[in-house]
Amino acid sequence: MVPPDSPAFPGLLEEMTVDEVRAFRPEVVVLPLGSTEPHGPHLPYGTDTFQVTRLCRLGVAQANRDGARALLYPTLPITNNANFRQFPFALRMGVRTLMQVLVDVAEQCRDDGVKKLVFVNGHGGNPGALDATLREIAGRDDLPFACWTWGIPPEDYVNPFEHPSDHAGEKETSQMLWIRPDLVRSDQLADNPFGRLRVPSLAKASFVRPWHLYVPASAGGETRKATAAKGETYITAHATGLAKLLVELSAAEFDERFPYV
Ligand SMILES: [Zn+2]
Repeated sequence: MVPPDSPAFPGLLEEMTVDEVRAFRPEVVVLPLGSTEPHGPHLPYGTDTFQVTRLCRLGVAQANRDGARALLYPTLPITNNANFRQFPFALRMGVRTLMQVLVDVAEQCRDDGVKKLVFVNGHGGNPGALDATLREIAGRDDLPFACWTWGIPPEDYVNPFEHPSDHAGEKETSQMLWIRPDLVRSDQLADNPFGRLRVPSLAKASFVRPWHLYVPASAGGETRKATAAKGETYITAHATGLAKLLVELSAAEFDERFPYV
């Protein structure tokens, strides 16, 4: 029996009835973007999806306790993963497909009378598509205001992690130790190598890294300092700022000057 990810709360669309949704009158919609992809020998494919789902559930529940009317959608489990192609079953859709999916979600929000849309991203392959999607949405007159974020830590947030990694390192291992410790293969924790650039200046340029060369184990960096407490610190901090954003968006009147006064 898998424990529920978190207790139900008003605004968790998957668990609401149609009458409850009508009575809720959502002001803001939140769509989490996860991913299903390899995360080394120690973490499951669903790592990004588990992480962003927990962050959003905490953030939206807090926001709605603080007076927001934010509606949380189910997490999108398949997004952009072109750089993972050499690993098996790195689930992916094309950049243009993802953009179209997000624009279609924006159109559905418009049809249901929602004027504010927040994409919460949990996967490093998505920022380019998210930025482009916001431009696409902003270029149309009738679509909701849209923004995206990874979650927003408070000003006094102190990064608890000792070993940097952009994939399946101490940060992600810590989060999974907090969310689903039963899925972390603790006997597989290690210092996983990163590929070194033949063209050093590319470190200061933007390019798509072939992941099988950059993180050959499908994980990079030292993971043995990971703890559930660090994971909780990271996620709860980022959920706090997301909650504040949702409260502010929910309260702000929507007119032609939005989001300016
Ligand atoms: Zn990840």
